[in-house]
Amino acid sequence: MHNILESLQIRSLNPSFSTGLTWGTTQEREVKAIHSPIDGKLIASVCMASAEDYEQVVKQAQAAFVQWRNVPAPKRGEVVRQIGQELRLHKEMLGKLVTMEMGKILQEGLGEVQEMIDICDFAVGLSRQLHGFTMHSERADHRMYEQYHPLGIVGIISAFNFPVAVWSWNAMLAAVCGDVCIWKPSEKTPLTAIACQQIISKVLKENNVPEGVFSLIIGDARIGQQMAEDERVPLISATGSTRMGKQVAKAVAGRLGKSLLELGGNNAIIITPQANIESAVRATVFGAVGTCGQRCTTTRRLIVHADVYDQVKERLLQIYDRLPIGNPLQESTLVGPLIDKEAVKSFTQALEKVQQEGGKLLTGGNSLEGSAYISGTYVKPAIVEAENHYLTVQEETFAPILYLIRYEGSVENAIALQNGVRQGLSSAIFSTHLQETEAFLASSGSDCGIANVNIGTSGAEIGGAFGGEKETGGGRESGSDAWKFYMRRQTNTINYGKTMPLAQGIKFEI
Ligand code: NAD
Repeated sequence: MHNILESLQIRSLNPSFSTGLTWGTTQEREVKAIHSPIDGKLIASVCMASAEDYEQVVKQAQAAFVQWRNVPAPKRGEVVRQIGQELRLHKEMLGKLVTMEMGKILQEGLGEVQEMIDICDFAVGLSRQLHGFTMHSERADHRMYEQYHPLGIVGIISAFNFPVAVWSWNAMLAAVCGDVCIWKPSEKTPLTAIACQQIISKVLKENNVPEGVFSLIIGDARIGQQMAEDERVPLISATGSTRMGKQVAKAVAGRLGKSLLELGGNNAIIITPQANIESAVRATVFGAVGTCGQRCTTTRRLIVHADVYDQVKERLLQIYDRLPIGNPLQESTLVGPLIDKEAVKSFTQALEKVQQEGGKLLTGGNSLEGSAYISGTYVKPAIVEAENHYLTVQEETFAPILYLIRYEGSVENAIALQNGVRQGLSSAIFSTHLQETEAFLASSGSDCGIANVNIGTSGAEIGGAFGGEKETGGGRESGSDAWKFYMRRQTNTINYGKTMPLAQGIKFEI
């Protein structure tokens, strides 16, 4: 661990913020200790930034924007290409640090860094394709088209469970769009953020990128709130709980800014009698216990037809019985720890509550003890037979609890259950029957931002627009045309004739 921090030269730093090339240290020196969820040991301490530090970062970002917006987009893309290369070189180290600080298994830690590399590649291509439409004018000798201009400062607030990928989804797109960004990572995972900043600073220096294009500020909700209220930050992209999203949305709307919200999910897989049961079960297990149930796209509800219910239940119980839980750095481990003891408490409380509501705990639900689980953050993933309307089932508990829900009759009944929650992020159906899968994808089907067929709810590719509806916040980031939200759209009408006709045929003779 120490080797990684030293190799990245972050052990000797005591930063609370960075504007890209240099680091700054707060005067207030509120220090936060970061312990690994793997063994509870102290990894490092960081300084939390003050309101004055934030001011300094914003001023630098404003100055940088004036220069960066004039750099041709493909040249901005070239900087992002080099960032992608640098991330390739540091993939092993950064992936391991993600695992150590956040607790996801190493394969997922590496996968997260791969996602960063992929979005860099995507953004490089995008840097030559930031195009708008041309339209035919209703007036003679007129031309009409639209263009996209950089927006300004993008404030990025990220959650602990994807401590680095979410930043890159936003920052790389923002960078090619000509924006500058200020990243406030989760206060639970600041070290991976500092590592990223350290990795990219080499590229920024080599390319004479102005100080302030990629800024980082270490802090908690107070800095996030300050940023949300700041009218100098036209776009806030916030990833986290629905509770946080509602507060941020209110603050940003209060100043008529733009917010891109990526909030909680309550994702379901539907298994119909026409499903390939083995594929469905495999996808369910990965979705339910991967990242120890701490993905926004984690499978939380499994809606199974009565005809195959017992078969699915039995197969799941067999697999859950032998899930390798333990140190996420070990190759054989599939389930690592939860982020902290608070998360264990939420897990236990949700299980108590759902049983009070009538749910039946089928397996798991206990926290693990012993020398291998010394941090007190390891739990045995749970499966509970439940009904969709239970209050506990309606909520997102950020832990590995899978609610098994039975449905009868047609697929429409299953879809109604799947849609019967306040969140709308990811959804999936397992069926080989065309009419069932098309019903799920139709406008009367899944109401989520992501709807998959014969694929689980988690593990999205970066090429598509990512996000969800309802209490998930409505934002879309990453692929497709998500970049448009990071720019301002301008419609231009040009008169190259010698007269001045008005639109709609209006006569206005002077
Ligand atoms: P959280 O809401 O506790 O914190 C997320 C971030 O918001 C942190 O950086 C935190 O400091 C900041 N924050 C909290 N309150 C704030 C406020 N009032 N103003 C400004 N900033 C504030 O979430 P978490 O526990 O870190 O992450 C788990 C949650 O994130 C889950 O609900 C999960 O579903 C969600 N999530 C969603 C997505 C998605 O793309 N939809 C992705 C990852 C995580």
